[in-house]
Amino acid sequence: MKLEEKLGTNKYYVDETCPHIHIDDTGFTMEEKRKLVNCCPAGLYRLQEDGSLAFDFAGCLECGTCRVVAGQTIVKEWKYPRNTKGVEFRQG
Ligand code: SF4
Repeated sequence: MKLEEKLGTNKYYVDETCPHIHIDDTGFTMEEKRKLVNCCPAGLYRLQEDGSLAFDFAGCLECGTCRVVAGQTIVKEWKYPRNTKGVEFRQG
């Protein structure tokens, strides 16, 4: 089974009104941005053609890696989703 297929078996209860991760890539180098692109196991950070960083919290696995990698730089806020929201793992 491919990674995308495994991720697709998870169930995500997305809290549209309260994103649990906030980022701001203003003023940071491409190297700092690439760290996030490379570290997220769900591939939620993507570099755009204009060099900005796009992020969608909807498929977050709540692993905390981006907080460790960029909690002092681009990731401005990281918290777990509110009760009954977030990921429900289906593949152990
Ligand atoms: S917590 Fe993990 S899965 Fe969620 S955005 Fe950060 S690195 Fe990606």
